[in-house]
Amino acid sequence: MTALNELYQQVILDHNKAPRNFRKMEDATKRVEGYNPLCGDHFTVYVKVDGDRIVDVSFEGAGCAISKASASVMSAMVKSRTVAEAEELFGEFHRLVKGELQGEEEIERLGKLAAFAGVSEFPARVKCASLAWHTLHAALSSSEQSVSTE
Ligand code: ZN
Repeated sequence: MTALNELYQQVILDHNKAPRNFRKMEDATKRVEGYNPLCGDHFTVYVKVDGDRIVDVSFEGAGCAISKASASVMSAMVKSRTVAEAEELFGEFHRLVKGELQGEEEIERLGKLAAFAGVSEFPARVKCASLAWHTLHAALSSSEQSVSTE
């Protein structure tokens, strides 16, 4: 295992053990439930949007280490960004876990999100890693109350 892979592994372990923004949000402007029946991951994502800025984001629920760590990293990364920036990150993340990003430079540019690059080799895990992002996307862009990866 390379040093970089070890670092990525560390990010996932850390965020799974001590997830950031893992709480219910009482004054959320939107809450959407996300479910990945393939693995049993089930999270509720809360967002508080003011104008076009995401002032707060949190989540609660349960799932495997990948899905939980991904939700945690996502919440930390999109907080205080604009909705457009968050959607752009979602696009980048999607390309990352689909294995569409080429070259270490392009991957490392994503910061902590890069920790999920290895997921692209495990198709079933892609759904775990993307669940929180799909849920966030639904919260930001539609009136849906729940999403499923199926
Ligand atoms: Zn999972």
